[in-house]
Amino acid sequence: MRGNQHPWPGYEILTNLDCNLRCTYCFEHEKCRGANNFENMMDFLADSFRRDYVELEKPPCVSPVIDLIGGESFLHADDLDSICRHAERLCARYGVKAPFIVSVTTNGTLLTRPEVVRLLERWKEHFYIGFSIDGTRENHDRCRIDAKGRGSYDRAVAGLRVAQKILPPRQISVKATFTHETIDRYAESVIHLIELGFTNLAANVVFDEEWPLSEAERCGAQLISVADYLLDNGLTDTTHLFQLNPAGVDPRRFNPCVKARGNFCGSCKYMRCLGFDGLVYGCHRFAAAMAKPIGVLRDHRIEITDAPFVEEASEHYKLWPQDCKDCDISGYCPSCVMAAYEAGDARAYYARQPQCGWTAACVGARVYLRKRLNHEDLSQGA
Ligand code: SF4
Ligand code: SF4
Repeated sequence: MRGNQHPWPGYEILTNLDCNLRCTYCFEHEKCRGANNFENMMDFLADSFRRDYVELEKPPCVSPVIDLIGGESFLHADDLDSICRHAERLCARYGVKAPFIVSVTTNGTLLTRPEVVRLLERWKEHFYIGFSIDGTRENHDRCRIDAKGRGSYDRAVAGLRVAQKILPPRQISVKATFTHETIDRYAESVIHLIELGFTNLAANVVFDEEWPLSEAERCGAQLISVADYLLDNGLTDTTHLFQLNPAGVDPRRFNPCVKARGNFCGSCKYMRCLGFDGLVYGCHRFAAAMAKPIGVLRDHRIEITDAPFVEEASEHYKLWPQDCKDCDISGYCPSCVMAAYEAGDARAYYARQPQCGWTAACVGARVYLRKRLNHEDLSQGA
């Protein structure tokens, strides 16, 4: 999930579907394919640069952001190196002054490999690494296992230590994922991640499970425990949990009443992801499932072939039930177009309000944090 409303979206590339792990909740069920077609990756990048910096006149001081999604992208370190070289050439060709950013989400276990260390050292100004670590060893190893069923926590932390030696903290982040089985360990897990040295964290619940309003209290208690930890340790301005005190936003000024003006994410309309076989999808999750391509690479250019679906997906918010359209906190509600599409009947999916409890918990915890920081009366309304 990306909450990407930016007019200059990243260029997503599904680099590969193979992975050295077998996480139990991974939505990428196809593990046997290798890397994406090399020429297609190069063409996709070149046409994305051309479109943004020539057609759409993106300012040269704005960094191009290349999002690499696997599988486990670091299985293919040579391809990643070629992507960086290509991006460097494209920046020169289009006069882009800002450094290109390569954002990679990884399970972290391969960062100890010599070829990956060399890659990070060579491109250390460009790599932003997002680790998928689900908190404590016990929590992480419940779901993030390898083909032999062995937990991967120790290998992921070994990879983190390598990254911490090469990259500055702002280029390292972590994304933890929680299910109903693990949610009661959310606070313990997030605090553990902070103690591992992460200062940029996201800790979300899986979209594949539903979190009705009745679960808001259970989830909220976990988030409030994290807020208390940040407050007790004076970390609210230096350590950022996206669900509680996201970077760049003053938690003292949090306003809970923000209505959505459209879909939560920019899938299909503002985002494009290169999938396999030269097909272009609305985001990495569509690409991984190989469902509903919106375009194709033809003659080195991206051609949108299903404009009606782009339109339909972009207007999914119109399928929300009236309660959601009227909801004061809908701007924080992370509904997923792809999850709705996969559910078959999107309207029925949204009618179940699958993220309601989680959203209410996050907003409630942000109000709690604001009140404590401002010494507001905790017993008063938001
Ligand atoms: S459709 Fe879902 S997975 Fe894709 S970008 Fe949107 S929220 Fe993320
Ligand atoms: S699911 Fe709940 S929090 Fe989300 S928009 Fe609907 S009513 Fe609001």
